[in-house]
Amino acid sequence: MSGRLSPPLPWIPLRRLLRLVLGLQVAAVVGLIVVFSHASAWPFLGVLSLGVLVLSLGLGAMAVNRLLQSLQTLKATAQTVPQTPCSPPQNRALTTHEERWREFLDAIPLGIVVYDRGGQMVFASTEARQLLGLDHLGLDDLASRPPLGLADTFTAHSVDGGCPYPLEALPITQSLRGEKAWADDIVLQRGDQKIPIEMASTPIFDGAGQVEFAVAACQDLSTHRQAQQVLTDYSHTLEAMVAQRTHALEQAQITQRVILQAIPDLLIRYNRDGVCLDILSEGSVALLASPHTQIGRALTEVLPPAMAAERLRYIHLTLETGQPQQYEYRFETPKGWRHEEARLVVSGEDEVLVIVRDITERKQAEAALASQKQFLQNVIDSIPSIIVVKDRQNRIQIANRASAALHGMTPDTMLGQRDVEMNPNVSAAEADDSHRINQWVMETQEPYQSEQEIADVHGVSRWYQVLVNPFRDRAGNVNGVVGNCIDITDRKQMETELQAANEKLERLATLDGLTQIPNRRRFDEYLQQEWQRLVREQRPLSLILFDVDYFKPYNDHFGHQQGDEGLIAIAQAANQAVKRSVDLLARYGGEEFGVILPNTSRSGAENVAKAIQREVAALKLPHPKSEVNDYLTVSMGIASVVPNPEQALEELIAAADAALYQAKRRGRNRYWIRLI
Ligand code: GH3
Ligand code: MG
Ligand code: MG
Repeated sequence: MSGRLSPPLPWIPLRRLLRLVLGLQVAAVVGLIVVFSHASAWPFLGVLSLGVLVLSLGLGAMAVNRLLQSLQTLKATAQTVPQTPCSPPQNRALTTHEERWREFLDAIPLGIVVYDRGGQMVFASTEARQLLGLDHLGLDDLASRPPLGLADTFTAHSVDGGCPYPLEALPITQSLRGEKAWADDIVLQRGDQKIPIEMASTPIFDGAGQVEFAVAACQDLSTHRQAQQVLTDYSHTLEAMVAQRTHALEQAQITQRVILQAIPDLLIRYNRDGVCLDILSEGSVALLASPHTQIGRALTEVLPPAMAAERLRYIHLTLETGQPQQYEYRFETPKGWRHEEARLVVSGEDEVLVIVRDITERKQAEAALASQKQFLQNVIDSIPSIIVVKDRQNRIQIANRASAALHGMTPDTMLGQRDVEMNPNVSAAEADDSHRINQWVMETQEPYQSEQEIADVHGVSRWYQVLVNPFRDRAGNVNGVVGNCIDITDRKQMETELQAANEKLERLATLDGLTQIPNRRRFDEYLQQEWQRLVREQRPLSLILFDVDYFKPYNDHFGHQQGDEGLIAIAQAANQAVKRSVDLLARYGGEEFGVILPNTSRSGAENVAKAIQREVAALKLPHPKSEVNDYLTVSMGIASVVPNPEQALEELIAAADAALYQAKRRGRNRYWIRLI
């Protein structure tokens, strides 16, 4: 700071210098106020303000120096004045000159004090009087009152210890001894107020080289000191904060490092050009080049060309979209194929973080699983029956080719679908039924089996043996069913044919080959059955036996073949008379017929007999050899009974037979009734 006491700049007029000093001080003070009011303000502003303040102090000191020179000039001028009393005009001029200087010194925004060689204060500017606590004195009072010594005017303490500042050490005292001096560790006590000041002083010598005056310029450093204090505090706070943050940062860095080490992924930062900025963590990914050789190099230098081009493309995509990107790739290493997955995120301006994970094991496992699945699929595809696994919602989980063919699909495209969604020929009702069955199987864990006709996607129906079993997952829980449908269409067809054949056979076995009406076997069966039923019901059963009259002569006359035709015609005619479904007309044997009439009493049977007679008569089959008629006729025996358990069926037959005999005996072409 002693530099401020160097000679003033001769080319700047004093007035302008003082204005400059004043301006700079105002700017410095404003700057410092801003710094005080916003402790967090830019520290540079505080430093700048202090700099400006220091500059203003320097320039102030220069101004003082110039003033002192002026004072010396004044003194020299005074010495040249003759010892004789001044003439009044001279005196006046001198007084005016001196007053102007005093006013001038007073106007300086620095405390200016002048002491004579005796240590008496001869001048103190307004600023100086305020600093020294002499502001109750006017500018001219100093001359009119008893002189004030140094001890009267300075009550100073040192900045450091607060102890009284020794008068001998004051710059002004030193200047009275002929030295230029400067100090900024002085504190003036003004009541309770402590004012730190800076003091620069210089001696003024007379013609004999003796110190005549000492002039001191004092500057209130309160603002400066406060600013310094604030700055000191601020820098302490800053230091503390920096220390704290540094610590926090270190901690964060440690944590980050631990986290990064724990991440199995490779973390690399790249810039837009694909230059590796940093490798944050290698994780468990085996690098293609060691990290220190990668940093600062473009990925085209490190990775194979195709891999580098792809990564660069994704780096650009990430930067352009701002969205995270992800891709998988593989490459061959001496140990085999390696699979990696890279995720990219924007990590700064024109910077991308790439997170690389080795997914070889996962890919191998996936491949193994896929091949296992394919193997299983091949196995079930080779099974000709339909195999499907459905979940609780009836959605297909597994399907084989046979199942897919039914719906005109492939096993893959069936997954997740329901039957109704794939096949328009599966009705909602059928789907409901199937769903109900599946639910039942899952609940009871019992297998279900049925034969169903299922239509394929083209509407062609086939028969299937449907087996539904509970489908257990690995944990043994049943959450679906496995359905197996075996095509039994051919078997079904054979069964149907067989049934038809059986029915035909059955019919043949019970039909009379000539007349195509039930045969004697059927007659006996049916009579037995109805007898038993009517025993239980206690309702009447009637039986008619009828026999063609003089049939032997008919045969003899017309031939056996025409005889057959006659029998056929009589059977058909009698059938016309037997109307109720429960009635049965049968060929009893030869040219004899029987009619079983359940729930029919004697009179009912009589009506049937009459009707048969009518129908046969209506045939008008000429019978020239008959002894009772010109046409074929029949004789009938009727027997009726309400059967009881004590009776035998044969009694009824015997009675009908006896009645027939009676009809023959009594002239033929008639009926005879036998009651039991
Ligand atoms: P009656 O009036 O007493 O019954 O005299 P009939 O000639 O009809 O009685 P008989 O029992 O003597 O003869 C029955 C004849 O019926 C003998 C047989 O040639 C004939 N006949 C039996 N079954 C058939 C047949 O299936 N076809 C033909 N064409 N004739 C038959
Ligand atoms: Mg007969
Ligand atoms: Mg006969």
